[in-house]
Amino acid sequence: MGAALIDGKAFAAGLRGRVADAVPAFAAAAGRAPGLAVVLVGEDPASAVYVRSKGRAVEEAGMAGFEHRLPADTTQADLLALVATLNADPAVDGILVQLPLPPQIAEDAVIAAIDPDKDVDGFHVVNAGRLATGQAGFVPCTPLGCLMLLQDRLGSLKGLEAVVIGRSNIVGKPMAAMLTQADCTVTIAHSRTRDLPGIVRRADIVVAAVGRAEMVRAEWIKPGATVIDVGINRIDAGAGKTKLVGDVAYSEVVDVAGAITPVPGGVGPMTIACLLRNTLVAACRRAGLAAPE
Ligand code: NDP
Repeated sequence: MGAALIDGKAFAAGLRGRVADAVPAFAAAAGRAPGLAVVLVGEDPASAVYVRSKGRAVEEAGMAGFEHRLPADTTQADLLALVATLNADPAVDGILVQLPLPPQIAEDAVIAAIDPDKDVDGFHVVNAGRLATGQAGFVPCTPLGCLMLLQDRLGSLKGLEAVVIGRSNIVGKPMAAMLTQADCTVTIAHSRTRDLPGIVRRADIVVAAVGRAEMVRAEWIKPGATVIDVGINRIDAGAGKTKLVGDVAYSEVVDVAGAITPVPGGVGPMTIACLLRNTLVAACRRAGLAAPE
């Protein structure tokens, strides 16, 4: 029997629709649309694609987008000055600095300079601390999207065994914190973990955020488990072509899991939808209005 497909594309479209539906009421109460500033430094082609699609999504949601494109040789001081301007701009509710940054700029210093209440990416240490201590803040968009898909599929996550493979600050660690908050029993695995297959086999929920094509195999999966594949890996598809695959060997895991996200069309579309949701929440909090769930 095949696993149920978790359709992140459809869920993300619904979430984007709900955010867009809430924008007119915000605008009527606040006298302006929620605003997101996106900063791109340099010409990295993948980053340029992300920034373009974020800009389009902001526009479609009826929000105000402020795009800042800076040359690759921008100094850290110049970027920090722009961040300070955006922090002080009342029309800007969310600030997103697209990573990676060129080598002359320290990413940590830039993230630390963003007002935590405008940090819609949830990367600031203040927001990491708020998440770790269960306080309201902003959580990173990709793991937030994973949590929404899990709750939509499973309802309450209480008491479930979750294994998160990967411990990055933007996916693995915040994912584990959110699952802990949702009352799962959480194990974080990483490159030094012993017997990864044995640990993953315990899990009711597996979140793979590694960056290794099709690493998670069918024998690792407990029958019926829910599998969330965050990985995005481009591999050779023969005949001079490439294709995108996740960190999970989808074609075999689909026969064992209870439900699984595809790549593409699973977690990927949730990231931008959650960015819009975080921007609306930031706008509501700053305007003293009730934030949506
Ligand atoms: P990082 O490279 O920052 O982290 C990868 C993690 O995987 C590390 O903690 C690393 O362990 C662990 N790891 C590496 N090799 C192994 C292994 N053999 N066994 C177990 N663990 C291992 O990646 P990110 O967290 O930024 O991203 C992970 C994946 O998710 C990537 O494919 C990325 O493209 C994708 N991604 C997708 C997004 C989306 O929107 N869908 C958004 C963000 C990322 P250690 O700490 O020990 O080095």
